[in-house]
Amino acid sequence: MKQLIDKLYETSALTPAEYKELIEHRNPELSEYLFEKARAVRIKNYGHDVYIRGLIEFSNYCRNDCYYCGIRRSNHKAERYRLTKEQILECCLIGYDLGFRTFVLQGGEDGFFTDEKMVDIISSIKTDFPDCAITISFGEKSYESYKAFFDAGAERYLLRHETASADHYGRLHPKSLTLDKRKQCLYDLKEIGYQVGCGFMVGSPYQTIDCLVEDLLFIKELKPHMVGIGPFIPHHGTPFADKEAGTLELTLFLLGIIRLMLPSVLLPATTALGTIHPKGRELGILAGANVVMPNLSPKSARQKYLLYDNKICTGDEAAECRYCMEKRLESIGYKVVVARGDHKSFK
Ligand code: SAH
Repeated sequence: MKQLIDKLYETSALTPAEYKELIEHRNPELSEYLFEKARAVRIKNYGHDVYIRGLIEFSNYCRNDCYYCGIRRSNHKAERYRLTKEQILECCLIGYDLGFRTFVLQGGEDGFFTDEKMVDIISSIKTDFPDCAITISFGEKSYESYKAFFDAGAERYLLRHETASADHYGRLHPKSLTLDKRKQCLYDLKEIGYQVGCGFMVGSPYQTIDCLVEDLLFIKELKPHMVGIGPFIPHHGTPFADKEAGTLELTLFLLGIIRLMLPSVLLPATTALGTIHPKGRELGILAGANVVMPNLSPKSARQKYLLYDNKICTGDEAAECRYCMEKRLESIGYKVVVARGDHKSFK
């Protein structure tokens, strides 16, 4: 099995059968070997730097009904909120003073935020913080809308593909949502010129190793600049309330594989990873991740932007999250840097 990791390290690719074999036969010793290689690649590309992104969860209204997500339309118990433009700019100001140079605007698919409103918000952030990058994570939109956000100054877009198996996609989403559409959005974003992030949940209901192999092959084909993966965690108000969470162990293994497949990819150690294990994000960094996304949302919002149960940091202020992260990373020999943290191909 170590030969497969050596091959992945040297060539950044395996055959589908080899990915399957590697994932199926993983064990603690093999994982450690993988993480060593993943760290070597990460250090060669980015040293011990960790890029921070300030996450602003600007709305939890959503027109969609994804079976896994706590802010799905049918969860009538979710207390809905949206931030005003002024509140969003206030988050950016607080974030800027804390050293953030990337702001990630994430929300449910909320029709209140028309293209016009989004363009106004994006250009206002760009005017006030010209040295910062703006990332949008606002779901599926038309080519024209994506283009309008881009022209207003958004340079990055996160849209997890969720699963690259069409059959699996159909088991996680209602019929109105399709894998083809999701993929089309990702290709549109790339064509427009965004730094694009795809990704998936690890251990989502009905996921098999074959699904994961399809995810890896899709990632290799898309060549995204960022890949967001984290464990699935059930939310009590969804159809998947009783499903099991994904594991730390498999998430870390996949982070290591993705680092070797795309050596210079921007790879976050996600909040979900920090939720299933107290040291999840540190372990993610040690498995090859190089990005963390501390929460910048106002306290009132973060207590309502609940995609899954037991989400961490919902009671903290932005500054607490920022310094807590710095300490955590220092404890494992890595450092938070004040930088936009673009993908290497965009510098
Ligand atoms: N509406 C935006 C943002 C979605 S929330 C969009 O469609 O892209 C961001 C990510 O959270 C989702 O892409 C999904 O992968 C993840 N997520 C949602 N529910 C989750 C759960 N129960 N456990 C873990 N991750 C979840």
